[in-house]
Amino acid sequence: MMDTPLTISAIADHVATFHGSREIVSVTADNPRHRYTWGDAMLRAKKLAAALKKLGLQQGDRLGTVAWNDYRHLEIYYGVGGAGHVCHTINPRLFPEQLIFIINHAEDRWLAVDPMFLPLIEKIAEHLNSVEGIIVLTDEAHMPESSLDNVHCYETLVGAESGDFEWPQVDERSASALCYTSGTTGDPKGVLYNHRSTILHAYAGIAPDVLSLSSQDTVLPVVPLFHVNAWGIPYSTAIVGAKLVMPGPKMGDGETLYELLDSEDVSIALGVPTVWLALLQYVEQNGKRLDKLERTVVGGAAVPRSMIEAFRDIHGVELRQGWGMTEMSPIGTVNSLKSGLESLDSEARLDLATKAGRGVFGCELRIVDDAGNELPWDGVAYGALQVRGPWVCSDYFKLEGKSGSHTDDGWFDTGDVATIDPEGYLAITDRTKDVIKSGGEWISSIELENTAMGHPDVAEAAVIGVSHPKWTERPLLLVVRNEGAELSDKAMLAYFKGRVADWWIPSDVVFVDELPHTATGKVKKVELRQQFADFKLSG
Ligand code: ADP
Repeated sequence: MMDTPLTISAIADHVATFHGSREIVSVTADNPRHRYTWGDAMLRAKKLAAALKKLGLQQGDRLGTVAWNDYRHLEIYYGVGGAGHVCHTINPRLFPEQLIFIINHAEDRWLAVDPMFLPLIEKIAEHLNSVEGIIVLTDEAHMPESSLDNVHCYETLVGAESGDFEWPQVDERSASALCYTSGTTGDPKGVLYNHRSTILHAYAGIAPDVLSLSSQDTVLPVVPLFHVNAWGIPYSTAIVGAKLVMPGPKMGDGETLYELLDSEDVSIALGVPTVWLALLQYVEQNGKRLDKLERTVVGGAAVPRSMIEAFRDIHGVELRQGWGMTEMSPIGTVNSLKSGLESLDSEARLDLATKAGRGVFGCELRIVDDAGNELPWDGVAYGALQVRGPWVCSDYFKLEGKSGSHTDDGWFDTGDVATIDPEGYLAITDRTKDVIKSGGEWISSIELENTAMGHPDVAEAAVIGVSHPKWTERPLLLVVRNEGAELSDKAMLAYFKGRVADWWIPSDVVFVDELPHTATGKVKKVELRQQFADFKLSG
């Protein structure tokens, strides 16, 4: 067989050839509804590549992005990756020290930033060692003032090029993108994706039992382009020629999301659980229905049963849960119904849908005990979850084996604790560091959170372990009540009776106005553990 390389530029050429007239719709800070086509996007990606060459970017060099989901960010994915540079997507909500660390560690030569993030970069600019200039993602009319030197306007750079740029030949095993893990413990760690891993991962994502993408679909990634390459959506939608809809800075805004879903006929939307809380709340309060949406893919954190139920029973929308991580590009498992399980009744299907899903071809799974022995797939035994496959990282960027993240026999240790049932469905019980150890036994914080969120008065819940003189640790439940709800602590704890083992029932509950979230919408458990470190349990 021929050995034609699997490269980002090959996707760019394919989508321009076969799906050039398919639409891309974006919300941006300077335009509430920008529309153009995949053909336009790929032409502009070539113009960008030509402009970057003139700025001196060489193959392998990193360009950092600090931007929301919109068409300019998408063009950077292709213009940078296609030309053999590395697109380093940066999470704008990280602390300034983390941003400085990441940009210096990646040795980003240029940064491309949304105008709203320019002040953030100005504040840290004096600490950035490698950055030669900034490209502001807007046109001349909207260019902000800046105290920095060498600031360029994106539209001016792109507008000066003809688009006759030829994509260079690149090795499919050379780097195309870079993402850092959020680094809740220690410094953030970089994961370097290559062209081949990116394409294999995108291919896998398209399959009917995974994300199920076709040219007929309209796809709304609410997962940020800076969060593990938006789960591969910028690539997989181009391979199939799907319409793409991007919400720009309006990620967490239920009203904008609803309007995009409705007016653009979105069939598939993807994001972490918290963004769907905002959407479900909006539609409920405004008497709307999600009639056109067929499917949501939800991952990045455990999905509450009540959310799966609300999508299914109120809106007729299938919620597919997925599990993965930055180190895995990110897809590991996706929860779709296997042949033979159709006879499960409605409740049993819901139970199954709360699991993280089953293995996707290309990502092997195993669970092991402390001694490294493989555990049975009986749905009961839990252990450290390890993975292996062509889109799983073999090491962290520049760490060269120092992180201790891989086993001697070549598996990546995910830091998650899981069970796998006889059908191959994985259930995440916890992150290793979030597990609550009570009297020598483990309690799953995720299961307690899901149970609490099943209560109709609960908007959001988190469970952490706090120290206990007799049991080492006991679970403490933190709850955000729905607006106007008068749920008492007694009633909240009584709700667990019969739903979980008695000794799992949290020892105490604290009602809070809100929970702290990371930029990717996950509850910051580290912060909660610090905040409640001296909490005296009443139970
Ligand atoms: P970080 O949160 O460290 O930035 P990722 O975004 O890569 O990194 O998150 C990966 C982690 O998110 C997984 O290791 C797992 O703990 C958690 N996670 C992802 N999907 C799920 C899921 N469906 N259920 C439970 N936990 C999940």
